[in-house]
Amino acid sequence: MADGGTGGPAAGGRVPVRPQERAMWCDERFNFQATFLQCLAKHVPNIYSAEMDPLLEKQEEMVQAAILYPLECYLFGEDPDIFLEKLQHSGTSQICGKVFKGGETTYSCRDCAVDPTCVLCMDCFQNSIHKNHRYKMHSSTGGGFCDCGDTEAWKAGPLCTKHQPGASDSAKEDSECPLNEEIMEHSRRVFPSVIKYIVEMLIWEEEKELPPELTISREKVDSYYCVLFNDEHHSYDHVIYSLQRALGCELGEAQLHTTAIDKEGRRAVKAGRYVSCQEAKEEIKRHSENVSQRPLHVEVLHADVMAHQKFALRLGSWLNKLMSYSSDFRQIFCQICLREEAGSEKPCFISKLMLWDAKLHKGARKVLHELIFSSFFMEMEYKKLFAVEFVKYYKALQKEYISDDHDRVLSVTALSVQMFTVPTLARHLIEEQNVITTITETLLEVLPEYLDKNDKFNFQGYSQDKLNRVYAVIYDLKYVLVSKPTVWTERLRERFLEGFVSFLRILTCMQGMEEIKRQIGQHIEVDPDWEAAISIQMQLKNILLMFQEWCACDEELLLRAYRECHKAVMRCSTSGRTREKTVFHLCGHTLESRPYRVSADPVSIHLPLSRTLAGLHVRLSKTGTISRLYEFVSPEEFQVELLVEYPLRCLVLVAQVAAEMWRRNGLSLISQVFYYQDVKCREEMYDKDIIMLQIGASLMDPNQFLLLILQRYELADYFRKIKPTKDQDLIKQCNVLIEEMLQILIYVVGERYVPGVSNVTKEDVIMREIIHLLCIEPMAHSAITKSLPENENNETGLEDVIDKVATFKKPGVSGHGVYELKDECLKEFNMFFYHYTKTQHSKAEHTQKKRRKQENKDEALPPPPPPDFSPAFSNVVRILKCDIMMHVLRTILQRAVELETHFWTEAMIQMVLHLLSLGLLEEKQQLQKSPEEEVTFDFYHKATRMGSSALNAVSVLMLLEKLRAVPQLEAQKDTVNWILQMFDTVKRLREKSCLTTAAATSGSEATKGDETQSTQDKEKAERKRKAEAARLHRQKIMAQMSALQRNFIETHKLLYENTLETQGKEDALMEEESTSSAIDSSRIALGPKRGPSVAEKEVLTCILCQEEQEVKLESAAMVLSACVQKSTALTQNRCKVLELSGDTLDPLFMHPDLPCGTHTGSCGHVMHAACWQKYFEAMQLNFRQRLHVEQIFDLENGEYLCPLCKSLCNTVIPLVPLQPQKINSEDAEAVAQILSLARWLEIILVRISGYSDKNVKGEKESLAALTHKGVGNSALEFHSILSFGVQSSAKYSSSIKEMLILFATTIYRVGLKVAPNEADYRIPMMTWSTCAFTIQCIENLLETEGKPLFGSLQNRQHSGLKALVQFAAAQRTTSPQILIQKHLVRLLGVLLPHLKVEDTPSLLEVDMFHVLVGVVLSFPSLYWEDAVDLQPSSISSAYNHLYLFHLTTLAHITQIVVSSATESTTTRLPDSSEEAQSAQAFCREVCQYTSGCFSQDIPGWLVWDCVKKGIMPYLRCAALFFHYLLGVSPPEELLQVSEEGQFKALCNYLSLPTNLFLLFEEYWDTVNPLLQRWCADPVLLSCLKGKSIAVRYPRKRNSLIELPEDYSCLLNQASQFRCPRSSDDEQKHPVLCLFCGAMLCSQNTCCQELVNGEELGACTSHALQCGAGVCMFLKIRECKVVLIEGKTRGCLYPAPYLDEYGETDPGLKRGNPLHLCRERYRKLHLLWQQHCIIEEIARSQETNQIFFGFNWQLL
Ligand SMILES: [Zn+2]
Ligand SMILES: [Zn+2]
Ligand SMILES: [Zn+2]
Ligand SMILES: [Zn+2]
Ligand SMILES: [Zn+2]
Ligand SMILES: [Zn+2]
Ligand SMILES: [Zn+2]
Repeated sequence: MADGGTGGPAAGGRVPVRPQERAMWCDERFNFQATFLQCLAKHVPNIYSAEMDPLLEKQEEMVQAAILYPLECYLFGEDPDIFLEKLQHSGTSQICGKVFKGGETTYSCRDCAVDPTCVLCMDCFQNSIHKNHRYKMHSSTGGGFCDCGDTEAWKAGPLCTKHQPGASDSAKEDSECPLNEEIMEHSRRVFPSVIKYIVEMLIWEEEKELPPELTISREKVDSYYCVLFNDEHHSYDHVIYSLQRALGCELGEAQLHTTAIDKEGRRAVKAGRYVSCQEAKEEIKRHSENVSQRPLHVEVLHADVMAHQKFALRLGSWLNKLMSYSSDFRQIFCQICLREEAGSEKPCFISKLMLWDAKLHKGARKVLHELIFSSFFMEMEYKKLFAVEFVKYYKALQKEYISDDHDRVLSVTALSVQMFTVPTLARHLIEEQNVITTITETLLEVLPEYLDKNDKFNFQGYSQDKLNRVYAVIYDLKYVLVSKPTVWTERLRERFLEGFVSFLRILTCMQGMEEIKRQIGQHIEVDPDWEAAISIQMQLKNILLMFQEWCACDEELLLRAYRECHKAVMRCSTSGRTREKTVFHLCGHTLESRPYRVSADPVSIHLPLSRTLAGLHVRLSKTGTISRLYEFVSPEEFQVELLVEYPLRCLVLVAQVAAEMWRRNGLSLISQVFYYQDVKCREEMYDKDIIMLQIGASLMDPNQFLLLILQRYELADYFRKIKPTKDQDLIKQCNVLIEEMLQILIYVVGERYVPGVSNVTKEDVIMREIIHLLCIEPMAHSAITKSLPENENNETGLEDVIDKVATFKKPGVSGHGVYELKDECLKEFNMFFYHYTKTQHSKAEHTQKKRRKQENKDEALPPPPPPDFSPAFSNVVRILKCDIMMHVLRTILQRAVELETHFWTEAMIQMVLHLLSLGLLEEKQQLQKSPEEEVTFDFYHKATRMGSSALNAVSVLMLLEKLRAVPQLEAQKDTVNWILQMFDTVKRLREKSCLTTAAATSGSEATKGDETQSTQDKEKAERKRKAEAARLHRQKIMAQMSALQRNFIETHKLLYENTLETQGKEDALMEEESTSSAIDSSRIALGPKRGPSVAEKEVLTCILCQEEQEVKLESAAMVLSACVQKSTALTQNRCKVLELSGDTLDPLFMHPDLPCGTHTGSCGHVMHAACWQKYFEAMQLNFRQRLHVEQIFDLENGEYLCPLCKSLCNTVIPLVPLQPQKINSEDAEAVAQILSLARWLEIILVRISGYSDKNVKGEKESLAALTHKGVGNSALEFHSILSFGVQSSAKYSSSIKEMLILFATTIYRVGLKVAPNEADYRIPMMTWSTCAFTIQCIENLLETEGKPLFGSLQNRQHSGLKALVQFAAAQRTTSPQILIQKHLVRLLGVLLPHLKVEDTPSLLEVDMFHVLVGVVLSFPSLYWEDAVDLQPSSISSAYNHLYLFHLTTLAHITQIVVSSATESTTTRLPDSSEEAQSAQAFCREVCQYTSGCFSQDIPGWLVWDCVKKGIMPYLRCAALFFHYLLGVSPPEELLQVSEEGQFKALCNYLSLPTNLFLLFEEYWDTVNPLLQRWCADPVLLSCLKGKSIAVRYPRKRNSLIELPEDYSCLLNQASQFRCPRSSDDEQKHPVLCLFCGAMLCSQNTCCQELVNGEELGACTSHALQCGAGVCMFLKIRECKVVLIEGKTRGCLYPAPYLDEYGETDPGLKRGNPLHLCRERYRKLHLLWQQHCIIEEIARSQETNQIFFGFNWQLL
């Protein structure tokens, strides 16, 4: 806890103290207090004199030397360093007490924490047993502290292993060593003076004067500071603005001040004479008032006052440090802080500070709170005493807090949670300090401004901030109540009841608050504020429940609380008392009541008193205490009608809102009704109102009860007579009201899942909720959690029961895991479940009917048999069979049978049927339980009896039969049948028990069962037939519909995909033909035995104009949409500083590490070049007019979205057809005779030197000499090269040419980050480079995905690659041939060192595949003659390709041998294979040419092994390249994955011997001089000598960094993260680069970097280096992945971590343990390697426009 940074003994060396000074302190006789103050008076003003520009280290040194060191010497009686070292570990408390900073991760255990406020710090958690429990992770808001060691906070494992006694290495003596008496004595002398000084200075209010004892006789200097204070009202920018204006200072200085003010709470912004400071003060106030209503808080302080206040804080942290050393220090400190001055009313020191808290600035508060944490809160006994003081001043403190404008974390009131949640402490405070009453009274005292004339709350025009502060008080009440006492003392009981009564006073102010009246005629003008009232209801919900739970602990208490609550309800139930009672008759029953109409009179949704009473009532019922109710509330007083009245009104209001009668009252009412029934409120609103109706139904006469309901629903007339009305709106309205009423009746009778209403447990209730949720659809864990009410501990109880009712289905690579309902729970489904919203209801009904249909069952969904009511509620069922109910049911059924459809609804009938089912179920259950004659519930009887009224003489049963004939009710037929069967069953049960024995009945039941069975079968068959017919009909209609509806683009998309598919098939067909007809030799790509190109005629459809066109040289160009991007996907050395612009870069040679390549990807969609250009221009025009577009599109860089698939593109690739080439085998034979490698080399060297003769003189000699040296015969001349076959160059149409240039320029521009320049010499280099690099990327991807080289590419990759390679071959024709030749010569220089080209890199410093692509593609330029543009014939090319490939391969083998076969680690028996021997021979040569630098001791087999493995990627790339260049089909083996087969097949396809070293032997004469020169290369030699490191082959393949399995490991890392640039303790946002593993400090000014004149955040600037602008980060604290590209674009992506329910947790909102999901991480990896990050960002930005505002640049 003691942080060395603030200047503990460790900080720097001590300045020696003058002996006399020390002696003075040590003098026993002196008056400590006086000396101490004298010393301070002398030193403090000097030390802190330079407030404007303090030298902090110097200050600290002086403080140590002049004050603290002598003080410590005196206190300890010896050298403080030695003493503290001794004391170091003995003072460790068993409480961790770590104080959390904002954003720090805290852990709570759902299994063991007493409540969710009990948390552990990361360290303690990692060392605790809870690591393996169900824990939760959360981000601290700051100010809390670690509860490790607090035995009351944990049910188990209160101590981590670190804080376990005896566990710490130093605490060998298990108890701490107490301080000796002398030190204690000194402490008792020193602490009071120190504390008194601190307190006095902190609460010092004089601006100009100091207390006399600190004023030294010297004359007062006129030296003042103008001090600016922090507040939460003014924004950062406001303050900066005001300072700049008022002081005329620079922006930088103003920023500096503002940051300091925000951090410390205050800061001197000007020093000077009093007058000038005063002026500055006025200026600042004036300017700040101008920008925002309130002026800034500014004071002018004397320099000495400022200095002493500063030092007081320093002393505070000094004490704070001391506290950690010894419990004795803590205790002495606490004693002194609590000591009250004798006979004085004044508060003790600590209370003084608390009371002053709200006046202190931020920095002072922090010191004060830390001091409290480190002293009082570490000693349980003193924590209690502190709590007592805290409660004593509670009201004052809370009031201060409410008018304060600092955040709650900065208020001393935030400490309440540390005390109130400790169960023993809470109990003590209730008993001794009456804390419940204190808190409720505080609430009443801070809320009066919201009281209206009736003493009800009304929050119109409330201030959100202020109310939020009031919530803090409500929280405190929750904290006090969170743990129910197990033992009740008489005192506790009294105090609690007192508190409860006081609480009822708050509820009284809420009962009936914010009344509303229906608006008729005119719409309300302004929606009233409703949020405040509803959110108070939410805050109170769990408090209300806890009060009820506490009351239920004790019988006596419960009854007394009930009486109080009842009294309070009655007092509030006065409205309408003045009205005369009216009488309502129906079916011979009458109801006398005072008239009231929800639609006309005021009504309120807020009835907490009534609802509390309902809650207490069910608890009475549950505990059985209800039998004594009348002892406390007499029957006369009880007045159940009055109790029911208000909740009933509220339910009617909801019904009327549903019937749209309150439309004119605006949205505010709709929202209130929503929350009334929503999971956040319903427990203490809607649910309790239903219970209150149940109470009414159980205690009132059933007919009277129903009459009351009819009257309040304003439906009395409807059921009395038919009012003929033609007003459709009124009829509709009435129908909705009837539905709503019937629904409520269903709930009153059927909803019994409340402990107390029936004999169910809490688990039963939760299970039922979950079952009904899952009946709608399978749901994710979080979705279920959200739909269940949380208790005071934020638990839903879900985990305890979920496995009983549901099975978990794991998620795939995307999406989340879901729970599915178990089949056996389906029978619990109740269509009219009272927590269903209307949509949920119909969804669930639909799902369940569909399911039954699929299972071939009937569609009846009768209610499940409900549990029995508890005795107190058993009378409720009587309403089912009472006369009024029968009348209601009959009336509705009759209308359905007789009247037109708009007078009734199907929903109404469904509800009637449901009520009938409930009645029958009830009677059946009763009959099954008791003998017939005892069952008085005679629903059957009532329902089959003729109606008594004159209306009609039909029974319900008869109506039911008729219902079957109503055509509109076809869907209800199954339900009706079910009910008719139930009638039958009940009838039989009645008869059975009268007549026969049990045995006989069971027989008859069985036969009855059979009967129903057979009829059911028949019905089933019929249903099936109908269903089949319906299905066919549906299918037909669907087909017609979809044909019509398919939209334009989709149709074309389909068309397009079809063509591609068929085309692919054709390809395949052709290939098959060629395999069957030709032999294996046809599958060779290089040399004289080259197979035929698979000639394919490509006819493609333009996605824009939908016209087809064949791709031909001479036709107008067709293009493929494409995206060119820089990429670091293949390098192993990221984070090398890359040049941002390639102005000076020479991209001809690629370093073998492939540091930064240019990747070309395509989505594979084809357009006419002309169509694309039109589209592109239109899009640019369109987007230029849109806002924020620059963030999605870089218009300047030619970005656009593919018109079909919306991928981000920035260019197009022209499609160039493959020119089929065939070799005449006879010619080939003939040429083979003459054209050996040696000869071929000579010919090209002559050609090259011929050209250079023409151009530059000088090189001739060397070349000529070389040629002569080679073969004696020199009949060769400049034109020899043409004699082996030439043909004329291909002629491209002008539009193709134009596109070739356009695309090449894009590659150049993007790849080098330079301005476009069509004539730049580097354009061809970049073309070859992107071709090579893209192939390497694809090869890499195929390998990591474990896919075969050929045949497994995605369509888009295939067509993109084909187009790219053909383009790269054709591009040559658009550049000057001399330029191409120059590049060619430079490239050849690597292979043929005797060309002596300048700047040729060493063999080890080039990537051979890039060289291969370059030389092959540029080679035809050697055939160029002045006037004629020629190119090699097929046969010439075949040899050119073969020899060029062989040469690069030889060079590459040499590279591999030299760089990778250097060390032997494995010991394998040397085998004597041919390859090993060849390798050995080769090594000997290399050894010789390198003068022994290359060790020849490396066994041959190892060398061969290295070569074979190392060369694989190169061979695979070459195979891809030549395949796409020449169109020769690859051998079968390459269409599969197999190690050995692949190597052979590759060698065969590329005309290589499988023993690669044979290549050297075959060409030895030619290669020998080359090898010699290669080996003589200085870089190669230095590498062999171990002086430099070369890339080893095969190159390591990239993958994203390893992530830990458990997410808390990452959080752990993040917590240890320190910003590399700043040392303050501010919260950082550590972010992990997934490419390289770097941890960065994101979104913080400290780590911004200036790049090319722009401020870039740490991530953005890192991305430039690490991923060439594209990067992938994990925001650790938020558990989100961020993808970014460049400076302006980025998006969020779900992190690859899932909780056990298969869900991600962005923002760690739920806080469940998270584990790495490998598949998802792999998906991210592929996103990277497929170069799809940019695409993903563009797609996400298209869909979520939210991130437009985000400044990615500063990430
Ligand atoms: Zn801890
Ligand atoms: Zn601990
Ligand atoms: Zn635990
Ligand atoms: Zn077109
Ligand atoms: Zn596309
Ligand atoms: Zn990185
Ligand atoms: Zn930083």
